[in-house]
Amino acid sequence: MNGRISDRFHGVLSRRELLGAASTTACIFAFGAMAGASGGAPPQTLPPLPYAANALEPVISANTISFHYGKHHKAYIDNLNKLVEGTDLAGMPLEKIIAATAGKSDKVAIFNNAAQAWNHAFYWQSLKPNGGGEPPAALKQKIDSSFGSLDACKKELAAAATGQFGSGWAWLVLEGGKLKVVKTSNADNPMTQGMKPLLTIDVWEHAYYLDYQNRRADYVGAVIEKLINWQFAAQNLGGK
Ligand code: MN
Repeated sequence: MNGRISDRFHGVLSRRELLGAASTTACIFAFGAMAGASGGAPPQTLPPLPYAANALEPVISANTISFHYGKHHKAYIDNLNKLVEGTDLAGMPLEKIIAATAGKSDKVAIFNNAAQAWNHAFYWQSLKPNGGGEPPAALKQKIDSSFGSLDACKKELAAAATGQFGSGWAWLVLEGGKLKVVKTSNADNPMTQGMKPLLTIDVWEHAYYLDYQNRRADYVGAVIEKLINWQFAAQNLGGK
């Protein structure tokens, strides 16, 4: 994994950062080996990006991705590992940590970092180079029956993403057999309310500010038209 990340970020992160990332990974592996030997749980790891850092240009720059993935997403993973080290939550799948900490006032920091770790991995997969276009047939049918048309669905998604006040996320979800668009604040994830996420758009300023500054609507519009990964949403919908 380390080699793949290094390859993807070659030319984006500096040599010093790459060496830093390599030694961090080496430490994680060493720690994992020690934890395994003593019966402890392995820490969470940063999943690889599903494409190169510059693959979403010109809609999202390699510069934005290098900070967003290499710094922000990585920090959520690192913070989570520190927060759960030595607790029952260490080594649990992210979904279980999210479910176990949602709404608990003494577990807010763990929830925030676990949910942000999950949300970002889901966001990277919700985008793809040359995305947008027509959803696969089964998803298209579900969109038509839930929203009336693909255009109506896209308009609702754009409205949720641009209308979220402050940091948060816009989601296409499945609930009670129908598709819905919802928005959440900060790290919140609709799975804590019994909904099944199909795709998401990150509307934290760090997702777009380097490329679009305050023009969130332009970022959202370009993502929906040119990057959105309907195939990923269709996979998440499954046979339902
Ligand atoms: Mn983000």
